[in-house]
Amino acid sequence: MTTAAVVGSGPNGLAAAITLARAGVSVTVIESSGAPGGGMHSAELLEPGVLHDLCSSIHPMAVSSPFFRSVDLASHGLSFAWPEVQLAHPLDDGTAGSLLRGVDQTAAALGRDATLWRATFAPFVSRIDDLMEDVTAPPLHLLKHPLLFTLFGANVAVPAAASLRRWRTPRTRALFAGVAAHVFTRLDLPLSSSVGMLLTAAAQAEGWPVAVGGSQAIARAMTAEAEKLGVRIITGTTVTDLDQLTTLTGGRPDITFLDTSPGAAADLLAGHQPARQARAYRRFRAGSAAFPVHYVIRGGVPWTADDARRAGCVHVCGDAADVIAAERDCARGIMPDRPFVLVSQQYLADPSRSAGDLHPLDVYAHVPAGYSGDATEIITAQIERFAPGFRDTIVSSTSLSTTDLERSNPNLVGGDIIGGHSGPVQLLARPVLSPYPYRTGVPGVYLCSASTPPGAGVHGMSGHNAATLALQEMPT
Ligand SMILES: Cc1cc2nc3c(=O)[nH]c(=O)nc-3n(C[C@H](O)[C@H](O)[C@H](O)COP(=O)(O)OP(=O)(O)OC[C@H]3O[C@@H](n4cnc5c(N)ncnc54)[C@H](O)[C@@H]3O)c2cc1C
Repeated sequence: MTTAAVVGSGPNGLAAAITLARAGVSVTVIESSGAPGGGMHSAELLEPGVLHDLCSSIHPMAVSSPFFRSVDLASHGLSFAWPEVQLAHPLDDGTAGSLLRGVDQTAAALGRDATLWRATFAPFVSRIDDLMEDVTAPPLHLLKHPLLFTLFGANVAVPAAASLRRWRTPRTRALFAGVAAHVFTRLDLPLSSSVGMLLTAAAQAEGWPVAVGGSQAIARAMTAEAEKLGVRIITGTTVTDLDQLTTLTGGRPDITFLDTSPGAAADLLAGHQPARQARAYRRFRAGSAAFPVHYVIRGGVPWTADDARRAGCVHVCGDAADVIAAERDCARGIMPDRPFVLVSQQYLADPSRSAGDLHPLDVYAHVPAGYSGDATEIITAQIERFAPGFRDTIVSSTSLSTTDLERSNPNLVGGDIIGGHSGPVQLLARPVLSPYPYRTGVPGVYLCSASTPPGAGVHGMSGHNAATLALQEMPT
């Protein structure tokens, strides 16, 4: 029987394990943290009964991922819940741009932009499954939906800052700029619209749901499915040398998967990896970072904009120019005075996370890579700007520096939560320009983390693609 070791149990490590086990491979997963899941952890951090998502919180990619659709995670108790408004982006005048499920519903509130909005997004919203199939596949694949993919490509090639000019109202421009900012880099770079286009289409097609019981519920369901297929999961063990795997898996594994950063992979493969590929792994740049703050609030956030009171996610920054400036500053290593802040109000869709009128609010700001300051006050002030009285609702809070983030998970290099800078070069060469970017250059060893296509998010497709390639390359 073929044996495999998977180092790391984030969504990609677990997806690789499930894909391999489904093909009859005997799989062992080794995870350094005390529990499997990587970026899918939840905990009662501050007050009893108030459940926070420590990393990922909103799951548009999970519900539309071809891998997730291929696994019956509902049978392991996983369910999603949707807020009334998927995303709100409040402005200083008290209004907000919002994403709703349904392109007509979203367009209806966008005034003079409604017709163009509908024309731009309807093709992708109506065929989100087809789009996801091609967008999440390995770079070199036979396109299943070439016309749709070409139309998408034409839209994402334009830098986000330039593509904003098509919108006539400040509300629409701010709304799209905020979603585009999920790319975590300057919005005047080519391909900087890519993440924005996909997430905006996904919000209108499938919504931006949350996992009932916290993102940890996804990890639990994936773990249960893996174990049902016979996968062995070892936690609390950091792999520092691939020779360790021989002991841990009871024999040298035939194939190995690294759900790690490229730099960590180069360390593990030192002496074995071709020099050119090792250099590319070590040169692979981390992106701008996140600075999370978890609040417990009493009542709700007193947003001025009504839509923000009903939204699962709120983008806090200001108008499109503010978003562009905040991302540019972070990319230059400057902490913005008014950073881009993402506020997750998952409890609106999943009230089981609250205790009475105490609610969790999981927030992070975009900050420069490796930022060493404390952004807590600046984040609180940004929220207060659009929700006067917010400070009075805070019962307790805790924040994590970029160093804390990397300590909690070595993949979060310098606080980068998206697996590497996503400028145009690294979006295409992730982490190397190759039709098979999962190959490490060492026979039988594959990289499968968010630093490989299709990139960040809880979708499992990097792990699934790497495992599928390995199965194809296995000697028969
Ligand atoms: C604060 C934050 C907010 C986010 N919000 C969202 C969101 O709302 N929606 C969304 O879709 N995504 C979100 N993300 C991103 C998402 O969590 C990641 O893109 C995703 O988890 C990447 O999956 P992965 O499997 O590649 O790696 P990870 O999830 O990072 O998992 C890697 C695992 O490997 C383990 N590991 C690494 N090295 C070793 C080693 N040498 N030995 C043993 N174990 C090792 C780590 O401990 C970790 O558990 C967020 C991330 C963070 C941090």
